Amino acid sequence: MLRFGTSGIPLSTPRPGTEAGIRRARELGLDCLEMGWVNGVRMGEAAADRIAGAARADDIALTAHGPYYVNLCGSEEIVRRSRDRLVHTARMAQRCGAGSFCFHAGFYQTLTPGEADRRVREGLSGVADALHREGLRVDVRPELTGKPTQVGSLDEILGWSESVPGVRPCVDFAHQYARSGGAFNSYREFGETLERIGGRLGRPALDRLHIHMGGIEYGPRGERRHVPLRASQFRYRELLRALRDCRVSGWVVCESPAMEEDALLLQRTYRRMR
Ligand SMILES: [Zn+2]
Repeated sequence: MLRFGTSGIPLSTPRPGTEAGIRRARELGLDCLEMGWVNGVRMGEAAADRIAGAARADDIALTAHGPYYVNLCGSEEIVRRSRDRLVHTARMAQRCGAGSFCFHAGFYQTLTPGEADRRVREGLSGVADALHREGLRVDVRPELTGKPTQVGSLDEILGWSESVPGVRPCVDFAHQYARSGGAFNSYREFGETLERIGGRLGRPALDRLHIHMGGIEYGPRGERRHVPLRASQFRYRELLRALRDCRVSGWVVCESPAMEEDALLLQRTYRRMR
């Protein structure tokens, strides 16, 4: 089963807060919600417990987007703080009952891709060890990023997923399209990406995949901004067809500014496919 939902609480949620967002997602007929913690995890344990209860009651599967202030390729001090932030994100995500959380791994800056890759791998191993010690089982998902200056190509996130236990990919197809200057935008390329994931990580990776998509604009330096699906050249119908044909299950988080409208458009389009 593929669950469709918004990144952050739906715009039409009548009052602030994740619990109200969960209720609204259910009213709309969506099946998942990504909690947007990009400016930090600002929530205590009691609130997390209430969110977990609300999500169970309304059968809304939760995921989380970790803070932007993470760079596993930075100085020792920055990496240490990034690791702590990721472990805290994992702790709170699991407490909310989320199955997965994603984040952007960092920036190449002056590093060679090989060195950046090595540092991220080391940082992720540290996070995985801490999660193991605390008995946390939420998926740690570095995201396929939208700019070539950001670490996180498809090959990099698959490599980390192969080598660090508990790490799996968050595949943002809109980012892949923007990052590649529009090269990844047809049924064939989407299918090849899914085959590559299955080939390197095995079938279970496609049975539980964390996916982002949405309309996007790009320039020579990759991602510019998220736009509504209908305002973008991104071929979401072909992507949905590829997901259907490969029998992919998991979460599809729509990052469009026209949040619930586009999440529902994706869900409807997918469900009508045979
Ligand atoms: Zn992201």
